[in-house]
Amino acid sequence: MTRWLAEYAWLPDHAEPTADVLIEAQDGRITDVTPLVGGGAPTAGVEVLRDAVRLPGLTLPGLANAHSHAFHRALRGRTHAGRGDFWTWRDRMYDVAARLDPDSYLALARATYAEMALAGITCVGEFHYLHHGPDGTPYADPNAMSAALVEAAAHAGIRLTLLDTCYLTATVDGAPLTGPQRRFGDGDALRWAERVTAFTPENGHARVGAAVHSVRAVPAEQLATVAGWADRRGAPLHVHLSEQPAENDACRAVHGCTPTRLLADHGVLGPATTAVHATHPTSADLALLGESRTGVCLCPTTERDLADGIGPVRRMAEAGSPLSLGSDSHAVVDLFEEARAVELDERLRTRRRGHFTAVELLTAATVAGHAALGWADAGRLAVGDRADLVTVRLDTARTAGVPPVGAFFAAAAADVSHVVVDGRVVVADGRHLTVDVPAELRTAIGEVTT
Ligand SMILES: [Zn+2]
Repeated sequence: MTRWLAEYAWLPDHAEPTADVLIEAQDGRITDVTPLVGGGAPTAGVEVLRDAVRLPGLTLPGLANAHSHAFHRALRGRTHAGRGDFWTWRDRMYDVAARLDPDSYLALARATYAEMALAGITCVGEFHYLHHGPDGTPYADPNAMSAALVEAAAHAGIRLTLLDTCYLTATVDGAPLTGPQRRFGDGDALRWAERVTAFTPENGHARVGAAVHSVRAVPAEQLATVAGWADRRGAPLHVHLSEQPAENDACRAVHGCTPTRLLADHGVLGPATTAVHATHPTSADLALLGESRTGVCLCPTTERDLADGIGPVRRMAEAGSPLSLGSDSHAVVDLFEEARAVELDERLRTRRRGHFTAVELLTAATVAGHAALGWADAGRLAVGDRADLVTVRLDTARTAGVPPVGAFFAAAAADVSHVVVDGRVVVADGRHLTVDVPAELRTAIGEVTT
């Protein structure tokens, strides 16, 4: 039994944080949540309070990063010379991809996931397509890269959903993969399914889901194979969707419809599916996503970095799509920044304020993100949920004087002081307990960049 006494804790169905909350956990699960003021003293008496670990500041449920490409962390700060767009950025990204092998990817992902832990992220969705050797030849273990990512998350102390990504073609009209893209491909969706079916990590911190890279990368007639694989297992299914107008244009030219319509027609949409970005949907697309209860994962700092644009986010939510958040390219790893960007970008787009409540932003960063990754029992400070606690200091230069309810509009990842994942302490006093994050990032990135 472990007990924590949170100065403030944000409990489910509360519009704002509650003061002085005793949280108890055993075997990685929350067993009791008791507000001391108004909720009565704990049954075990004052000794309990003496034993409890004090958590000064605001304690939140674990944050879920629903969209990650771990190796993109190596690009931070390296793609900003001169001009360039999404497609020139992608060329730099392919340079890094070409240098990775299972050992160097383990080192880079371990450091990247540990940076996430420092930011209060307790679970990550890794949208993984670097499957094979640089020329497309499978490794002796065809899932060696997947295994490296699972091991990296274990070292970093966070949970992982490996979204094993089907990536078969280079363009919507089916051009073959060439150059650095060859290592992404399995040939066809059946061979993708065969490989991913063979990957069954036994450690309880990881689970396997599926992804369609995009309508560029999976031919229409093979979409149902990927969707069916996920459906039969009850596994989450993710897909990059309409990040760039060029993707919409190409899809219309080849298929005569939008990417969202194409996915809907081939059984890809539904409540277990998350569309990543959805920056350029039509009104009909919004209805298809919402009516099917397809989630949308927003990655505002990446969309900003890549000049993707700003999607109609409030309309997505009102259409029925649950919203989650991802740091995607890791230009920034800070879910507080992602969360407030959802509101602030909508203000820029509409020139009006006040679109999302603090609870809606909290939900996107926590319980909705975990649900999108297949962890229905995480993301709330509630009895029975996984014991994930993220404590944010309210006495830093950024947060001093801020009311706890305003934390999402003030705090940064650097204000996270204490992180517990499945009942285990991973970060204490702002330091990762097992990984020297800056040193490991510097070394791992040095190995794969010039
Ligand atoms: Zn992505």
